[in-house]
Amino acid sequence: MCETKNHALIVLDSCRYDSFMDANTPNMDEFGDTHRVWSQGLFTLPAHIAFFTGRLPTDPLSELPYVSNNRRPFVLNNLGYKFKIGADLIVDGEDVIDGFNNLGYTTIGSGGVNWFDGSPATQKLIHNFKKFDFFGPFNIDKQLEWIIENLNKQDKIFLFVNIGVTHYPYVSPFRSSDDLKNRGERKFQIEAVEYVDKTIRPLLGLIRDWKVVITSDHGECFGEDGLYGHGLYHEKVMEVFIKYHGMEGVS
Ligand SMILES: [Zn+2]
Repeated sequence: MCETKNHALIVLDSCRYDSFMDANTPNMDEFGDTHRVWSQGLFTLPAHIAFFTGRLPTDPLSELPYVSNNRRPFVLNNLGYKFKIGADLIVDGEDVIDGFNNLGYTTIGSGGVNWFDGSPATQKLIHNFKKFDFFGPFNIDKQLEWIIENLNKQDKIFLFVNIGVTHYPYVSPFRSSDDLKNRGERKFQIEAVEYVDKTIRPLLGLIRDWKVVITSDHGECFGEDGLYGHGLYHEKVMEVFIKYHGMEGVS
């Protein structure tokens, strides 16, 4: 069990549980088992608002800490609950980012999908980060370079990474948006996950001693019941994956 105070939350946007399971992800797999859990939101905004209160996707039937709803790596105090949820760190503030700031952390965030583009409507998600930059879904290499540069010489860090390549249209170096029709296919998302796994390896090497959560904000429909995309209610939109690293009682 490591003694680090640093936390990282890495979100593969739109990544379905079964897409992650079918992808070859040797680097991320070093960061714990892959658990099947349920999202807190149908699309990026509500899911991330939930993340930033400390509510992560859970499986209430699980007996594992963190995966079930009985423990969290970090949580915002005074959420109005009449019951107490165990947490490694309880923070006070407008959201958990503000809460980490109040504890002297350097809060660093980066966005891949357009909900983090810095426009007025997106400020509610990002305005509390001490350092934040938006890279769009097609610049994961630059995004990770920027993150690694900003990790240097910092201590007590809360790092948030939203990765856009797993979001439609799943554009990575081996696939251009011209390859895709109007709708995505799951094999494209699986390829995108594998690309993320290769690209994120240097970052994972730097945060191996941290408490790390790797998850997805919501899933995606690829034609199930005639449905495509997310922002709609379907099991495949709600079903996501999560990994916990550096936390006791879960692997
Ligand atoms: Zn999303």
